[in-house]
Amino acid sequence: MSERPTASVLVTGSELLTGHVADANGPFVARALADLGFAVRRVLLVGDRPDDLRSALEFVAGDDLVVTSGGLGPTADDLTAEIVAEFCAAPMAVDTELRGRIHAKVAGWATRAGWAGPALDAATEKQSRVPHGACVLEPVGTAPGLVVTRPGGPIVVVLPGPPRELTGMWPAVLVAEPVAELLATAPRAEPILLRFAGLPESEIAATLREVEQKLDLSRVEVITCLRRSELEVDLHPLPGAAELAGELADRVVRAHRRKLISDDGRTTDELLAGALLEKGWTVATGESCTGGLLAGRLVDRAGSSAYVAGGVVAYSDEAKTALLDVPAALIAEHGAVSPQVARALADGARARFGADVGVGITGVAGPDGGTEAKPVGYVCFCVTTADGEVVARDPQLPGGRADVRERSVDLAMHLLLRVTGRTGPGAHR
Ligand code: ATP
Repeated sequence: MSERPTASVLVTGSELLTGHVADANGPFVARALADLGFAVRRVLLVGDRPDDLRSALEFVAGDDLVVTSGGLGPTADDLTAEIVAEFCAAPMAVDTELRGRIHAKVAGWATRAGWAGPALDAATEKQSRVPHGACVLEPVGTAPGLVVTRPGGPIVVVLPGPPRELTGMWPAVLVAEPVAELLATAPRAEPILLRFAGLPESEIAATLREVEQKLDLSRVEVITCLRRSELEVDLHPLPGAAELAGELADRVVRAHRRKLISDDGRTTDELLAGALLEKGWTVATGESCTGGLLAGRLVDRAGSSAYVAGGVVAYSDEAKTALLDVPAALIAEHGAVSPQVARALADGARARFGADVGVGITGVAGPDGGTEAKPVGYVCFCVTTADGEVVARDPQLPGGRADVRERSVDLAMHLLLRVTGRTGPGAHR
């Protein structure tokens, strides 16, 4: 075994290959396994063709653990259990107790829905066929999960496709005996997650090159990822390299402290919620080009009623004036997309909702409507507080309409965080 046990994820489902459904299970399982200390080698996506599934299993046969998702339903094209059984040389047989439990689960609603009968019995029979020696994971829906070991090969965990079922069964996977034994061999992962705003990846690459002159970084895996306009830098130490990862994190933070959001994995949304609660502040939004996306983002979190007062989507000039008291003359003089109107939207929202903080956003999301002075992507932001603080920006954001609107929300979140005093040198450690 290498220093860390290896794992691969095999996601099945033809609907995922057509692009109609986005894979949610691969990322969930990969992340969970990485956090548990596995070296995740591959996430493979295959259709429901038996030969594709067979060859994908052979492809990952050298790993210590393989987790599959999908293909456990009652229909004929749901073949994962059979193919995994074949891969593990474990003949299939009906588990009569499991059949009884699945029957008990479905009997009530099937009778009420008028579906009870031979077809349902056959479906139940199919879903209770398990490979010899498999550990059965109780179904969240109707399909049980399975843990089967290939002689001399990987442990294969077979889970259903619906994400709610898969995530619901995940805790049971970790305590299933063969998996628990393997987990005991995985070194406790102590990853460090640094989060930056407004920092390009190339800057981190340059810092890493510099640090590499002084430290041997071969025992720290560094993964950088741009998400929601933020740069995440994930440092995964190999066994014994935790101190080295800590030192690397310190050096990276020192080099880019002004752009640091958090060094403990906390998100902007979490930090903002915490800061607003701590200050006892409420927020009100006056949005034009983002059409309520910022208010939506703010209320995504449970408990946001404690700090979100409300918001107005003031798209037309008339709405800006009627609902948020933006003077028509101001719009006429500077244009609806202007720092002055962003300020008036923020003040208007704050006043109308009696909030402590107001946010105004107005911009040219495109694809039409841009001018030389105010091109597509030009967005004006303003955050004002009851005690007189004003933070304003008017960048030109890159990308298409969706990108501009999404980035606008990200930037507004960062500006909000700034007025709470959460960002800046020394604010995080
Ligand atoms: P069942 O058929 O009993 O629901 P199953 O294990 O056979 O379970 P699938 O038939 O593979 O599951 O998938 C059922 C539905 O679950 C899919 O149509 C899709 O909507 C959703 N689903 C499956 N796999 C994924 C995935 N990886 N990511 C997101 N959604 C998925």
